[in-house]
Amino acid sequence: MRTLDSTTSLRIAVQKGGRLTDKTLSLLEGIGLQFDDYKRSLLVKCRNFDVELLLIRDDDIPEYVQDGVCDLGFVGANTVAEDEADVTILRGLDYGVCRLAIAVPKNGSIKKVEDFAGKRIATSYPVLTRKFFNSKGIEVDIVTLSGSVEIAPRLEIADAITDLVSTGGTLKANGLVEIDKIFDSETQLIQTNKPLSEGKKHLIGKILQRIEGYKKAAESRYIMMNAPQSAVVEIKKIIPSLKSPTVMPLADNGMVAIHTVIPLSTFWDVMEKLKEAGATGIVMLPIESMIV
Ligand code: ATP
Ligand code: ZN
Repeated sequence: MRTLDSTTSLRIAVQKGGRLTDKTLSLLEGIGLQFDDYKRSLLVKCRNFDVELLLIRDDDIPEYVQDGVCDLGFVGANTVAEDEADVTILRGLDYGVCRLAIAVPKNGSIKKVEDFAGKRIATSYPVLTRKFFNSKGIEVDIVTLSGSVEIAPRLEIADAITDLVSTGGTLKANGLVEIDKIFDSETQLIQTNKPLSEGKKHLIGKILQRIEGYKKAAESRYIMMNAPQSAVVEIKKIIPSLKSPTVMPLADNGMVAIHTVIPLSTFWDVMEKLKEAGATGIVMLPIESMIV
C-alpha cells in the first residue's frame, strides 16, 4: 500500500445507526477495507488502508464533506440535494432507494398538485418541497418538522405532507395517499471540493475502481458448461460475454468445456438458449469481485 503524503488519513463519513449504515459498511468491507468494531466508536480506523470512518447523523454528512472535515461521504441523494451542499457526487449506489413523495389524506379535498394553492405542507425537506411548488408556480405554506411528518395532517398541523417513501406502507398506515413525486433518491458517494493531497486522490481512485468491480460482480455470474465442439459457434453467439469465452477440450472426443461471465439479468434467457444449442451441465457461480 502506498503511504499518504498528508499527515491525515482519508476520512469517510458514514451514517451512524441508520438505514444506510449496514449496507455502506458491507460495501466497504466488500471492497477489502477492514475495520475494528465500529459499533463502539465514532471514529474507526481501517486496519489495512490509511482510511478512517466517521460515524455521524446522515443530516450532518453533506456539510462535513463540504467543509473538508471528511473527504468522502456515503449519504442519500435526498440529503445532499436538500442541503444544497457544495460537494462532488462521485457516483450513485443502488441502495437506500426511496422517493420524496407528496401525500394527502385519503378522501380529502386535495386530489392533484394544483389543489395545493394556499395549503399547509408539513415536511422535513423544505428546500426540495419549496423548489417543487415554485417550479409549478403554486404558492404553499411550508411547516418544517424534523420527524413523524406523517401524523401532521391528523394533528391538523398541515393539510398535506412530503416525505420519504420506499414501499408506501407508512403512508397507508396513516390514512394518506401519494399523489405525486418530487425527487427520486439513492445513496451517493460524495467527495469534498476542498483540495486533496496526491495520496488521498490516489486512494479515492482506488476505492472507486473497487466499487465499480464490486458492483459489476454483483450483477454478473460465472457460468460453466459442457458442449459438443460443433455447437461452439452457436453458443458464442448466445453468450453476451464481456470478453470471448474460455473454451477447453474435454477428454471426451469432440466435447469442450466453456467458461464465461454473463450479466445476471440475462441468466435465464441465456441458460435456456444454451440448452437448446446443446450445452449440458450448465453451472452458475457468484463472483466476489472483478476488474474489467
Ligand atoms: P439520523 O439519525 O442519521 O438522522 P434518519 O432518521 O434521518 O437518521 P434514516 O431513517 O436512517 O435517517 O434514513 C436515512 C436515509 O435512508 C434517508 O435519508 C434516505 O436517503 C434513505 N431511505 C431509504 N428508504 C427510506 C424510507 N422509506 N424512509 C426514509 N428514508 C429512506
Ligand atoms: Zn437524518
